[in-house]
Amino acid sequence: MKYVDEFRDGQLAKGLAAAIAREATPSRNYSFMEFCGGHTHAISRYGVTDLLPDNVRMIHGPGCPVCVLPIGRVDMAIELALEHGVILCTYADTVRIPASKGLSLLKAKAGVGDQRADIRMVYSAADALTLAQQNPDRQVVFFAIGFETTTPPTAVIIKQAQTLNLKNFSVLCCHVLTPSAIANILESPEVRQYGTVPLDGFIGPAHVSTIIGSRPYEFFAEEYRKPVVIAGFEPLDVMQAILMLVRQVNEDRVEVENEFTRAVSRDGNLKAQNLVAEVFELRREFEWRGLGLVPYSALKIRDQFAAFDAEQRFPLSYRAVADNKACECGAILRGVKRPWDCKVFGTACTPETPMGSCMVSSEGACAAHYTYGRYREVA
Ligand code: SF4
Repeated sequence: MKYVDEFRDGQLAKGLAAAIAREATPSRNYSFMEFCGGHTHAISRYGVTDLLPDNVRMIHGPGCPVCVLPIGRVDMAIELALEHGVILCTYADTVRIPASKGLSLLKAKAGVGDQRADIRMVYSAADALTLAQQNPDRQVVFFAIGFETTTPPTAVIIKQAQTLNLKNFSVLCCHVLTPSAIANILESPEVRQYGTVPLDGFIGPAHVSTIIGSRPYEFFAEEYRKPVVIAGFEPLDVMQAILMLVRQVNEDRVEVENEFTRAVSRDGNLKAQNLVAEVFELRREFEWRGLGLVPYSALKIRDQFAAFDAEQRFPLSYRAVADNKACECGAILRGVKRPWDCKVFGTACTPETPMGSCMVSSEGACAAHYTYGRYREVA
């Protein structure tokens, strides 16, 4: 398949691995964070770590929208379905995120006492709008999660719902922003004070950057002196990005480079950006799992579209809930710990029995490591 097969070529991978090994200076360490769960997945699936020299270390970042969704937000979705009787539409991974009281959306759908939540898995935001049109006597809520990539489709359906004058459709908006999370990590005590998370640069997400462009990352190069390479999600994309980061470090350059030139430009998709700006505005703060309250890191629906905002239509309030004490997701999402540091990894917590969000999504670090990498430590 074009744009896939040629980026999985084993011979080219060996050549890139040799170049990284040749150019990485033996006397120093290189620590790069792959922000996005898609990169984490590719690194685990294709064994990229095994192709790197020991002094080049990859650190998983918080760029998995399912993983960073805090329990309190899942509780709100369950409350909408159980107590307000809405049809709650959501993407598949979200239904398995552990929530309060031992619940999840999936368990609420199976039944709590004599109540059964009407949860529908959808493949797109547009599916949720269609469900609202097909069920005019029911309130339909779309549980909207994701980074900048999935925000424009949510904006589209809100505008369509307004045009159609739908009275039974709204959105529980949990869209979050990539640059705010990167800034939060760079400001964290582990990076700034303790040095326990050494960071020499970032691999930036390709899909997010098709929307926002490469320009927003320039701040991190200029203000924090951290190189960024925006990369695609195939193994050769990731390896090429690592090589580009090694070269920047060696040459003492601090730049934003774009490996994913096949789809990312400096300015991004202006049409999509304008659409998002028309429908959404910044939240003053938003809780992220692992990162805590992050200022201006998420979007809310503008007052002009309040009729389609589930937080305005229903009497909902957000309540912060602590993670399961045994779960290390928070530390893993900050790059402080790795999946195998968690005592219940692969025993009590598996993809079939997830105790934390990082084991739910295939892009979560724990799920990726469980699926592809857990045997390496044993061997
Ligand atoms: S293995 Fe499970 S419990 Fe442990 S950090 Fe990962 S998701 Fe949380």
